[in-house]
Amino acid sequence: MNSRELPWDRLATTDELGNRIYLYASDVHGVWKRRRSWLGLGLIIVFLILPWVRLGGHQAILLDIPNRRFALLGLTFWAHDAPLLFFVLGAAAIFIAFITAVWGRVWCGWACPQTVFIEHVFRRVERWIEGDALARRKLDQGRLNAEKFWKKTVKWGIFTLLSLVLSHSFLAYFVGSDVLGKMIESSPFQNPVVFLVMASVTGAILFDLGWFREQFCTVVCPYGRFQSVLMDDQSSLVAYDARRGEPRRGVALENVPSGDCVNCYRCVQVCPTGVDIRRGAQQLECIACTACIDACNDVMMRLKKPLHLIRYASQAMMERGAQSFVPGFKRTRVWVYLFLWITCLGGLAWTASHRLPIELSLIRAVDAPYQEIPSEKFLEKSEILNHFKADLRNQTFEEQEIVFLLSPEIKAQGVSLVVSNHKNTLAPGESERADVFVQFPKKILQNGRGMVPIQIQAKSVKATQDLPRILHMQEAHLVGPYF
Ligand code: SF4
Ligand code: SF4
Repeated sequence: MNSRELPWDRLATTDELGNRIYLYASDVHGVWKRRRSWLGLGLIIVFLILPWVRLGGHQAILLDIPNRRFALLGLTFWAHDAPLLFFVLGAAAIFIAFITAVWGRVWCGWACPQTVFIEHVFRRVERWIEGDALARRKLDQGRLNAEKFWKKTVKWGIFTLLSLVLSHSFLAYFVGSDVLGKMIESSPFQNPVVFLVMASVTGAILFDLGWFREQFCTVVCPYGRFQSVLMDDQSSLVAYDARRGEPRRGVALENVPSGDCVNCYRCVQVCPTGVDIRRGAQQLECIACTACIDACNDVMMRLKKPLHLIRYASQAMMERGAQSFVPGFKRTRVWVYLFLWITCLGGLAWTASHRLPIELSLIRAVDAPYQEIPSEKFLEKSEILNHFKADLRNQTFEEQEIVFLLSPEIKAQGVSLVVSNHKNTLAPGESERADVFVQFPKKILQNGRGMVPIQIQAKSVKATQDLPRILHMQEAHLVGPYF
């Protein structure tokens, strides 16, 4: 085994005793790096500005877990909105399965915040202050001197500032940017819990993006563990063309022409997770970041050999030696995922469009079916009283003033309402059970049965937005004496 070869019995980032070996990934340039950098820049901008974007009067994405309320691109819902939650989570899970089945670990290499912030922010700052991989290794292994002290101080100072920005943006998704703004303005003693959460999140980001890095992908991340279940031999991956590359220089037998791989280890030096891609595709630690493609293409270019010894391919195509690669859509599972995903989105759209801002269900109270009460208003000298229980829930993010009503036509027939145990206003997400008594003359009954529509009207208390008046109607089925 040559000195640069990675161990076979453990991760490249651990020694025989299981201690961490710190990686110094070399910088790489090339077409894939450029594409990833532009995408990374776009994603960083979206991540930072999204908490400040408002759609339909609400934060574009809000995951307010303590208050169990969520906003997703104008759609607002609560943790108790089971159908909506089911479709949102189902669509997300199926989308991940679909993407992974077709494009493999494209999320890990291109869009995961872990990769995006390490590659496009933290590592750039590190290179800028400490130099290239060799210089960084030398600095770490060298004795503490003035140069090392100032470089480390500046680097960790900038890392801390970046972590603070990220933790504030991150927390804005969970507490809301408006609440966060107020918290920033107030003293930490006024919001000690939030301050501690913020300090912990900042510390965790600093630890992860500044030092822990590839260990998170190779040891902690659950998606990295189960992605191989979602992939098959048609899924995209970054793969080494062993047919063309082997036997690599230095290991070819005498009189056997060597392959195109010159065994320069450049692909290993640039790998942020310490993988030797030549050991086979679909290695658990490979996050499909494409750095080794650019590195090897650079080597091939210098040697004036054809490019793409390492390239995007599927395992099946690489085994067949195919050069061009088209993601494998011609598979039943891919179309099943797509069908399920579209079904979930359809279910989500249908549920969202049929969802009422104020939920009302009216059920008959468990007591006498009706009471007959004396009244001078009608010829019969008595009226009938029916008792209902009304379950109300405010599904909006605003405090609502709620009134029970009867239409003028129904009132003209002598029907009246008495509502008790009703608070008039309901806080966002609050529910209540009110008692509704419907009082009516016998004449509106036919064979002891009748029906009146009961309306509820809701109005935003603060009226921060120009919400339409919400009307909801529920039929109350009346009973009375049979005559
Ligand atoms: S960069 Fe290319 S040529 Fe160099 S070792 Fe890796 S695969 Fe072989
Ligand atoms: S093997 Fe290549 S694609 Fe995979 S993580 Fe390493 S550099 Fe990225």
